[in-house]
Amino acid sequence: MPQTTGTGDTMGSDRPEIEIRGLHKSFGDNHVLRGIDLDVGRGEVVCVIGPSGSGKSTLLRCVNLLEEPTSGQVFVGGTELTDPDVDIDAARRRIGMVFQQFNLFPHITVTGNLTLPQRRVLGTDKERAAAVARENLDRVGLAAKADAYPAQLSGGQQQRVAIARALSMGPDVMLFDEPTSALDPELVGEVLSVMRVLAGEGMTMMVVTHEMSFAREVADRVVFMDGGVIVEQGPAEQVVTRPRHERTRNFLDRVL
Ligand code: ADP
Ligand code: MG
Repeated sequence: MPQTTGTGDTMGSDRPEIEIRGLHKSFGDNHVLRGIDLDVGRGEVVCVIGPSGSGKSTLLRCVNLLEEPTSGQVFVGGTELTDPDVDIDAARRRIGMVFQQFNLFPHITVTGNLTLPQRRVLGTDKERAAAVARENLDRVGLAAKADAYPAQLSGGQQQRVAIARALSMGPDVMLFDEPTSALDPELVGEVLSVMRVLAGEGMTMMVVTHEMSFAREVADRVVFMDGGVIVEQGPAEQVVTRPRHERTRNFLDRVL
């Protein structure tokens, strides 16, 4: 496959959905990402695991340029996000992100949380935005909560709303940063099942998680990061159950 770079054009559909090339990120003299190369194919689910402070969140945030890489390139859907001339707002609309803290707007209803970004960012008309909101609330099993306020929902329900909100923007890629880490254990499953369905529908996903059983069942590939580099990656079953590197084994011994 020919590598075409730098123009911000949308290239052929055979390119990986996400391409990360030689990515470095420093905060002052803290060199956090130290040369990350990673592709995520269309419809692929990649779980990123690794100890706290290894740079997992920074990596995800560099994929949608919430953090500006110090050097290297990020392409999403063939568009180079690190190209200084790219329309970054347009590029970002193709990328949904779900955080550990759900970040819902507390003063508006669930439906409002899903329609507001569509109307503000995409300019979608009211009826269309409401229809998309209904469809996505249905997708996460929360059609009945359309008129509730976030505080009336459990943490698991709030996180499902956050996922529905991201989906309402029609993204090609979904990034999840420890989406279940803030939840009581009994609420983790409902969020993971929504993510499992999404993966089954062919969504391209990068998921930072400590849920090893989710990684093993759902991920096509698991990436283990430590110290700002990818130490090893491979099929989920292999990395989680037969890691090749000592550092991966030590990490898994602690979390499993
Ligand atoms: P992880 O998600 O794997 O726990 P992070 O990517 O959050 O790791 O953090 C990696 C390192 O980058 C840490 O040393 C953290 O303090 C630092 N870091 C992350 N974000 C910022 C920021 N906005 N400003 C300064 N340092 C940061
Ligand atoms: Mg993190």
